[in-house]
Parts: sequence; structure tokens; C-alpha cells
Amino acid sequence: MSLRARAPMHEPTVEMSPTVGDEVKCTTCYMCACRCGIKVYLKNGAVRYIEGNRDHPVNRGVLCAKGSAGIMQHYSPARLAKPLLRVGERGEGAFKEIEWDEALDLAASWLAEVRAKDPRKLAFFTGRDQSQAFTGWWASQYGTPNHAAHGGFCSVNMAAAGLYTFGGSFWEFGEPDWAHTKYFLLFGVAEDHASNPIKMGLAKLKEAGAKFVSVNPVRTGYSAIADEWIGIRPGTDGLFVFALVHELLRAGRVDLDYLARYTNVGWLVVDAPGTARDGLFARGPDGEPLVWDRVRDAPASAHDPDAAPALHGAVSLPDGTRAVPAFEHIVRRYSAQEFAPEAVAERTGVPAATIRRVAAELAEAAFDKEIVLDIPWTDWAGRRHAHMVGRPVSMHAMRGISAHSNGFHTCRAIHLLQILLGTIDCPGGFRYKPPFPRPTPPPVKPAGHPGQVAAGKPLPGPPLGFPTAPEDLLVEADGTPRRIDKAFSWEAPLAAHGMMHTVIANAAAGDPYPVDLLFMYMANMAWNSSMDVPGTLAALTAKDPETGAYRIPRIIYSDAFFSETVPYADLILPDTTYLERWDCISMLDRPICEADGPADSIRQPVVAPDRDVRPFQDVLLELGARIGLPGMTDEAGNARYPGGYADYLVHHERAPGIGSLAGWRGADGKTHGRGAPNPGQLDRYVENGCFWHMTLPESQRYYRHANRDYLEWATEFGLLGAPERIVFQLYSEVLQRFRLAARGHGDVRPPARERARIETYFDPLPIWYPPFEEAAIEAADYPLHALTQRPMAMYHSWGSQNAWLRQIHAANPLYMNRETATRLGIADGDWVRITSHHGRIEAQARLMDGVNPETVWTWNAIGKRAGAWNLDPRAPEATRGFLLNHVISELLPERAGGYRYSNSDPVTGQAAWYDLRVKVERIGPAAARAHEPAFATLPRPPGMAPAPATVRFGAADGRGGCGA
Ligand code: SF4
Repeated sequence: MSLRARAPMHEPTVEMSPTVGDEVKCTTCYMCACRCGIKVYLKNGAVRYIEGNRDHPVNRGVLCAKGSAGIMQHYSPARLAKPLLRVGERGEGAFKEIEWDEALDLAASWLAEVRAKDPRKLAFFTGRDQSQAFTGWWASQYGTPNHAAHGGFCSVNMAAAGLYTFGGSFWEFGEPDWAHTKYFLLFGVAEDHASNPIKMGLAKLKEAGAKFVSVNPVRTGYSAIADEWIGIRPGTDGLFVFALVHELLRAGRVDLDYLARYTNVGWLVVDAPGTARDGLFARGPDGEPLVWDRVRDAPASAHDPDAAPALHGAVSLPDGTRAVPAFEHIVRRYSAQEFAPEAVAERTGVPAATIRRVAAELAEAAFDKEIVLDIPWTDWAGRRHAHMVGRPVSMHAMRGISAHSNGFHTCRAIHLLQILLGTIDCPGGFRYKPPFPRPTPPPVKPAGHPGQVAAGKPLPGPPLGFPTAPEDLLVEADGTPRRIDKAFSWEAPLAAHGMMHTVIANAAAGDPYPVDLLFMYMANMAWNSSMDVPGTLAALTAKDPETGAYRIPRIIYSDAFFSETVPYADLILPDTTYLERWDCISMLDRPICEADGPADSIRQPVVAPDRDVRPFQDVLLELGARIGLPGMTDEAGNARYPGGYADYLVHHERAPGIGSLAGWRGADGKTHGRGAPNPGQLDRYVENGCFWHMTLPESQRYYRHANRDYLEWATEFGLLGAPERIVFQLYSEVLQRFRLAARGHGDVRPPARERARIETYFDPLPIWYPPFEEAAIEAADYPLHALTQRPMAMYHSWGSQNAWLRQIHAANPLYMNRETATRLGIADGDWVRITSHHGRIEAQARLMDGVNPETVWTWNAIGKRAGAWNLDPRAPEATRGFLLNHVISELLPERAGGYRYSNSDPVTGQAAWYDLRVKVERIGPAAARAHEPAFATLPRPPGMAPAPATVRFGAADGRGGCGA
């Protein structure tokens, strides 16, 4: 390992790359969600150094600050050390240490009691864990539909809009064709998501001279190195995109061939107002959608590869039905003057001339810089193509779009723009990563209907899925939600990731019903993972005034660290760090695939825990076995996976031949994708650097939604159920079905209160409307948008307690536009009061130029509650850090009739925390502060030593660990 610099004989030798460890183990980083491959150097059995794995498909050796600082995460003074049982009141933080046997007995007895009565009374929710395929399966085996991870808080709008439109999505489900793109448009992405992959991709773009345009109210991170920054007003991206579409349609710069071949724009939409068919697709005798064949001047099946669909006009079908191609609806809507650049300029804050120029540049890159790759391929109908033609425009978007109450439609709008330009899965465009593309939407429905939930029984399917009609909703006959979070109800019909942000408030209010047990993992819901922290703390501690019992009777929580949520639970199951356990980044969940081929990976225990802690996944399997869950016990009632999660990873089959890991399957370990369990599988992964990867043949790397060879391979591999082409749904019949229900058609209809809402927001084409909070308040009272974003050096609250990363950010100011601040009499460094319709906080203002004038913003999750995370109560995080969450309401202002909807997107239930509006007033210097909001200092749990005043690696014992 040691490299020595060549030096003249008379100079001392300089050790340029000293040996830092006596052992190296590969695993997967978990300091953010990108899942880079890492090499961990150990010295005397302690973690000494982490570097990127150069062979790994995700990061190719690149490691960020967070990844390097994993050492200090692992040796954090905030690690929990033993199971804890609450002995005081919730929130006081009074616990006693207990043994694991007692903890597991207690948890199992609570779980068994609920399951024997009504499994729905268990609410099981997890945060940003990476084992959701496993935890969802566990919930199904238990029998509760009340399960989800953090997606409803994060970016379900992004995922659902993509999956319902083109069977893929931004974020980790796809990526720009970095090698070929010539124009890259980035919407609402801070510098955290897809961190290393985007950085590496941007470097490629810069080297190739491609243009990079970032649309974002804040110019930091990626936006800071963009060729052009468009500082849009938050929540108006949809209008901006519609204006681009307007310009492209006006100029005739859309790819009609691509549209006719790969999308439903030629499908005929029934025009029969007032009937149950209005707005649905006209269908033939076998239910196939119809097009109007221009050549034969007659209707034809949309699946007939020889049909030449008309895209304009209206037709009369043989039975007299009047119908219009979907494209006619698209052209009519977005050609309207309301979407002309001048009409949206003021609202978006983007000048009309800029919109026109960007539209022209997009068209120029797509059509005048067309790429032709000499790669023959075969389409879904068996037609051979000599080349792959690319439109080198790519786009990417994330939470800045997603976390608004109009986010679902804005995400759909971006996909509309991409598809009109013909840039999905073509050279230079946006590329799917396996297992995508999948059908639009994937053919999985949420379980939890009446009759599917029964005492002592598993669910017949997964708790999460993709409804395609009102019949798929989880509602009672009168429309009452059947899930505790109200996902898949009329309030949020397409809530594909659940609505974790509503669980605690709903459970405390008994709306739609009370629960008996709340079980959470790795979700800091008592602090930065809730929109309304004081409200959440009140809900967690609320008692029935008559009985004095907690409204949420029991709470189990598992976490590796002493987060703000720990004091609010009754039983704590301490987890390991990511370097101490087996883990799996599975293709059943959110894999690490590349556009060029599938991949998955594992984590292996690099070191053994030095505390009395256990991996949460092992604990879940143990609890499942103790209470006799069917998937976790054999016929004799013994544990099916006695070797814990590692045993499960190798031997569990979700379907015959399909397991958690795709590599080295089959008895001989020579098959990939589908194959019998291989007892030596984990050894093969470890030998290969803890990942498996394969590269698809060139002919299968583009046009995969319609590429016969890819579709057949994906079916054989187990990614698709059948090798059928995936047609992009620019016009969504699914949304129209819900809208028809609101108009009184069908057997399952929304209650009267929900009808207008469903009618409005279930438009089959993308729409724009003002974010709900903005529409509900007086804009003059709260004139500024307030946003939060993660810094590049931190990820959630884990990172902001890390001794090395705290040296980069230890407190977060409120960043303001310099001119706006000056107008308000606020100088750089002044303390300010931030007030929303819901609450107020104080922060220190910092002035900058690169931010939209109507927007203030801060870094997320740096503010900490005093005492939590074993930080000094006087730490900057507690005294100068703050969370915008404190002023975000979980509920929208009351409507006529007294009902308060969740502060969420009305289609998917995505938490709309970027809708926040505030006013900002100068307080003065720090001495003038009132210190709002104020929370009591949390005491350290038993068994946790006080953190040293200065945390340094290796200072405690000379091996690893942290000390003074
Ligand atoms: S980008 Fe994320 S996964 Fe990759 S090294 Fe950094 S923290 Fe680790």
C-alpha cells in the first residue's frame, strides 16, 4: 500500500501515502442515501480511515466529507449503549437500563397483544432506513396496513408523478446521460441528494462543454457552478415549465414521431360530457385503447404497430362516440395565453425573454444537435432500427419541486416537457436505472381493505402500492380513511409512500381511530422530521383527561443515537452503527443500479459492537419469530432465519427465485437475478467489494420502455412481469377515473366534502395552482417564502452531531436577499424574528445576493434541542441553531365546515413543507432576544458518559473511540 515519493538521495524520504491500517474491509457508506462503496481501514481492531472504493459503480472512488467523517459517526459520544425502559413521564428522559431479554419480551408481548385484537392498532413507521423492502414485508406478515417509511415527507410527489407518467422517476431511479447530454436543466436540487453521482456527472458536463442551467430560488451548491442560475419564486416551477411548453408548441419544436411511437398522445379521449365515459379512453372490443389511423381513416388499436395515429382534430367512432386525440387536449391547454411567457413572468420571477431563450436553447439542443449512435436495436414490435437517435437534453429534479402542495403536478409538467422533446431514455436524455422502467404505474395495489385485515392474520399484500381507480382506495363505505395516516383515502388517493408526517397527530387525536402501539425506527419525529415540533411533542405526551393514560398508549423506538425522539418513547431498542451490521441495498427496494446495468450491494459488519446494542433488522426478525409471524417461523414454530438478517438476505425468496440480492444466485452461485438461494452468496459479495454489478449489452441501454431485447431480459431477470412495452401516460386516465367519481359516477365515490377537491386536483393533464398555504393566508402579512435545504456536508440530524462535520456547520443563520433585508432594516448578523401563521422563532440573519428576493432560507437539521445528541447544552446547535419546522403547520388553516386538511399535496399526500410563508422582523443584537421557541434541556440517558469538551479521534484509548 505504501507509495514513496522519489527524492534525491540527500533529502529525507517523505511518506506520501502511509499505511493507515493493518486490515481493510469493503462495505457501503451510510452517511447519506447515495450508497457509495467504501474501504474501511482498521488498526488494532479500530476504524482508522475510510476511503472511496475505486471499483464501485456508484462513486468510482469518490468520497465526500460526510463519507470520510463516518469514523466520528461510528465513535459518536451520542451512541446508545443498552435497551432503555422509561421510568418517568414521557419527555422527561428518565429511563432505566434493561437487558435485551426483558426488552424483547416486553416488545413481543405488546406486539402480540395488539395483533391478537386488531393488527391495525399497530402503527409501524420508519425513517430514512435502507431496508424498506424488508420492513414493509414485516408489516404485511404482522397484518397491519399502517406502515410506511419517510417518503411522504421527502419526495413522493417526484416518485409518483414519474411512475404514473413514464414508469420511472428522478432521484435514484434514473440519471441524465452524463456522457452525451448537451443541455442539462436542474430543478430544485440542493447539494445533498445523489451527492457524489451528481458531482461526478456535473464534472463530466463541464469537461464536455454542455450547458448547465439550474432553476432554484437559492444559488448554492450545484447552482453555484451552473452556467445559468434561474432564481425562480418557490412553488411556481410548474408555471415556468408550462411557459416553456407553450413556446415549444408555438414554434412547432416537439418530437411528433417520438410522441406517436412511445406515448398515449394519439389515444382517443371520449368527449361525452356528463357521462361515466367522459375523459376516458375510447376502447375496442378487448378493452384496448383506440387511435384514429390517418392512413386508413379508421379507428385502430393503439397496440397496432402499423397504425399512424392522428394527433389533432375530433373524430366520430362507429358507435357515434365523439373522441379527440389526447394531444389535441395538450395543445389546447398549453397554447392558451395564460401560459405565455409574459403571463407567467411576474408570478415566477423569471423574465419572459429568459423563458423564450431557454425554450429556444432546449429546442436547439434537442433537434439541432441530435446524436446518432451506430447501435442497432429492435423495438417492441420487432422492427429493427439501425441507429439510436438521441435528443441531448436532460433534466433532473428533487425536493424543491416535490415538497409543495402542487408538487405532483409540477413533477408531471417536467416529465411532459421532457417527453415533448423526446428525451426519455435516449442518448443524451434522461436514462432509466433498472429495475425501471416499470408499467405506468407499477402493478402493485395497497392492501388493507375491509376483510384483508384480521386478528392474528397477515395482510394478503404490501401496505403500499399504486391505486389506479377509486376501488383501490383504503376507505370505509362512508369514505372514512382506513389507515392511521389517511394515505390512500380521498384526502390523498395516490399516497404511494404513505404519510408518516400525519401519524403522530392523527394517533393522538384518534382520527380516524386511536392506535395501541406506535413503533418507529430511525425517524427523529420529535424534532427535525416533523413539520410542527411543538404540536408533535404535545401529541406524543397527550393524555386522556379522564383516565390519565397516554393517548398513544405505547411507543417503541429504535435508533443508534440519543436523538430528540428517544425521551418520548417508552421502550428503546438501541441499534448499531452502519459499520457494525449486515445490510442490503436491494433491487426490491431502492437499488444502486446504473443506467448501463443493474447493481446491488451489502454492508458487512466491519467491526463488532462494543456496546450492548443489536441491529434493528435482527431485532425485527427476532420479534417476528417470538410472536409467530408466518414468514418468520417454520411449520414447527421455530425461527425461520435463526442467523438473523444475514440469514434472511440469503434465504428469503419474495417470489420463486427472487430474493433480496440479485448477484451470485443458484446452488452454484453462477446465475444472477433469478435463481435458488446460494448459501455462499454473502461471501461472494464480500470478495467482490460488497457489491454486484452487470453491464447491459449496448443494444439494451436506451429506449428500454420499447426495446424488445431489454424487455425480454428484464422479464427473465425478474424485473418485469411480462415483456410488454411501457407507454408514457401524458394524459392520465387514472386521474380522470377519480375525477369521474367526484362527478358522481361509479360505485366508489368521494364524500360530499371531498368532491370539489378531487374534481379540481385530479386533472388528467398537469395543472398549476398556487401552493395551499399561500392561497390560505394574506400574502401581505407573510410576504416571504421560507425554505430549508441540506448542506453538502450533512445529511439529516445524524450528520449534524458528527464532531468533524460540526466544524463545517455548527449553527445555521437565516439567509436573506441583501436588497430585501436592507428594505426591512436588517443588517448582516442582526437577530430576526420569523413569524408564520402558525408560530415564531428567532435566528441570526446573514445577507447574500444569490437568493430570490422574496425568499429566505436556512440549512436543515442543524438546530438541536439542548442536551440531545450528547452535545453540550450550550453548543451552537442549541443556542444559535434553529429549525424552520417549528413554524410549519401540519394542518392547513380551517375551511368552511371546520375541517382542517393535512398540509400536503392533495394527490399524493406529500408533506408541503416548502409552502411555508413568513414575515421577518429585526429584533436587534443578541442581547435583545427572547429565545423562542424554548424547550427544556434533555438529560442524558443512563449509561451514557458525558461527551468530552473536545471530541478527537483516538484520544480516548489510543485505538479508536473519541476522547478529550
Ligand atoms: S455521497 Fe453519501 S454515500 Fe457517498 S460518500 Fe458521501 S455520504 Fe457516503
